[in-house]
Amino acid sequence: MEQLVKLTGVKKSYKLGQTLVPALRGINLEIHAGEFTSVIGASGSGKSTLLNLAGCLDLPTEGSIQIAGQEVTRMNESQQSDLRNEKIGFIFQSFNLIPVLNVWENVELPLLVKAKLSPDERKSRVESVIKAVGLESFQHHKPDQLSGGQRQRVAIARALVTNPSLVLADEPTANLDSKTAHMILDLMADLNKKQNVTFLFCSHDEKLIGRVGRIVRIQDGVIVE
Ligand code: ADP
Ligand code: MG
Repeated sequence: MEQLVKLTGVKKSYKLGQTLVPALRGINLEIHAGEFTSVIGASGSGKSTLLNLAGCLDLPTEGSIQIAGQEVTRMNESQQSDLRNEKIGFIFQSFNLIPVLNVWENVELPLLVKAKLSPDERKSRVESVIKAVGLESFQHHKPDQLSGGQRQRVAIARALVTNPSLVLADEPTANLDSKTAHMILDLMADLNKKQNVTFLFCSHDEKLIGRVGRIVRIQDGVIVE
């Protein structure tokens, strides 16, 4: 299977005043096309830091990160942002939708930023991802007219609309009740299976593991399993 992300000896520390806070302390991890990987760990264990590095949102203090075969640490900022826009979709805990835009417009937004598609092609892409997350009848709703689970579905559609190679989901179920959380996880698992979308998902919730794919356990900035 095609290798999408390869982290080798990755360390990341944050500067906090005079001290360095170690967040990742030597991570080796490979993500292949078509996988559904869950990173599980307590709060503060380094999950967000790991996802941000895998998504080229941040750079390591030490080590190598290859995304789609390219060494990220040797790219300049504009190459990094191109790589991010072309290859990666992001889903966050707090949905991050734009309140004044309706469902259709929120989902379409990444395509307008990209601006390479014809209006017809744009329309058909937006239509198909809204359908994939089951929100056909809510296209004209604004985020505040939707439930938490529906908002996260919009965010998933928005992450998928650019056909990214990899979708990163940072605690996407943490703001949802457990029944809705399981529905969102099932939706992602279904997209993985039927449309071969590659997911790297993280959660602190032990109850969500075992449902899908491969599990990576992180503890104090190292992978323990
Ligand atoms: P998780 O997502 O698993 O809760 P994080 O990756 O957010 O963990 O954080 C890992 C460690 O790095 C924690 O000790 C956290 O306090 C620290 N950390 C994260 N972001 C920053 C930052 N911007 N500045 C300083 N410390 C940070
Ligand atoms: Mg986090």
